[in-house]
Amino acid sequence: MKRIFTFLSILVIASLACGLPAASEQPTAAAQPTAETQPAETATQPEIQNEAGDAVLYFTIGMHIEPQGETAQGYGGGKADYHNPQFFDKQVKDMYEVTQMVEAHGGRMTIQAQSPFTTVAIESGNTILADLAAHGHEIALHFHEDAHLGKNSASLSVQEWCDVMKEEIGYITQASGVSDIRYWSGGNLYINLYEAAECAGLDVNSDWKNPSTQSTDMSLTGVNPWRPAGGTDGTDFTLFATHDPNGAIIFLPEGQYDKTDFASMRRSDNAGGDEAYFEYLKESLYASLEAAQAGKVNVFHFTIHPSEFRGDPQDPFGVIERFLTEVVDPLVASGDVQWMTLSEMADAYAASE
Ligand SMILES: [Zn+2]
Repeated sequence: MKRIFTFLSILVIASLACGLPAASEQPTAAAQPTAETQPAETATQPEIQNEAGDAVLYFTIGMHIEPQGETAQGYGGGKADYHNPQFFDKQVKDMYEVTQMVEAHGGRMTIQAQSPFTTVAIESGNTILADLAAHGHEIALHFHEDAHLGKNSASLSVQEWCDVMKEEIGYITQASGVSDIRYWSGGNLYINLYEAAECAGLDVNSDWKNPSTQSTDMSLTGVNPWRPAGGTDGTDFTLFATHDPNGAIIFLPEGQYDKTDFASMRRSDNAGGDEAYFEYLKESLYASLEAAQAGKVNVFHFTIHPSEFRGDPQDPFGVIERFLTEVVDPLVASGDVQWMTLSEMADAYAASE
């Protein structure tokens, strides 16, 4: 009772003090940033976190391993190719470096792989995915439909998608020893994606962006997961943004982001480089803390790629290290932020339903 009273008091105080929108059940409503939640130019740690005793924000960093080189299904190619041992080894070395950095901060990542990285790892006996799994990182699927299904993937059947997703999951299991692969990213413009993923045994999804425009619809941002009523063609998000209590897939929004291009801005010269991107991540993390509600599952995560943000050779991945030290560690110490892999977040959400 005291807990409920405290929670309600906090909501009232928060509403009065910060002009936050009242608690909302709908991810679509929570996703709309108000003027009050726009991050200030220089973000400061929000005051509210000290008052909102019970609100915890679950946090992780995901990694997408892209389909560089010809995939198991014979599509793709290009200059950067995992079949080139120098390129493969360099990316593997960087992956160890970043994951060990995260481990040193008490964190675990969700590593999302696909062929040809997985198949090259199997053929060459490389154990990185098994090693990362042994260290507590989640091993998952990153699925590029054009690289595994070809150019006409949108016209293929659910069964064809399911079969190839299963094939890709099989390589991940073979390379990592992990048999319960549950999370995937990608395949975003296939209207029947969720049926195909369920058929392939997957039940957790996030990182939705339009691969053509590299943008994310604002209805998919926010901090509270939900079970989408269906997929999207990239234009109509009605079903996607609607919660279906019986939906098979749990969608984890990325957090309280206020720009539609947050998933791609790190690669934009206009964005001001790595430092500016991590400043934006900090602002978005603080906005997500403010949006976090006690008694709900609240999540925030962002994505990196192998060798991304490598920066100064004398200080590799320094921008990530500083973000963890200066922004994340104090919030973990105060109990406001808790590390979780993406599927652990989904389990916490399922337990809260
Ligand atoms: Zn990708």
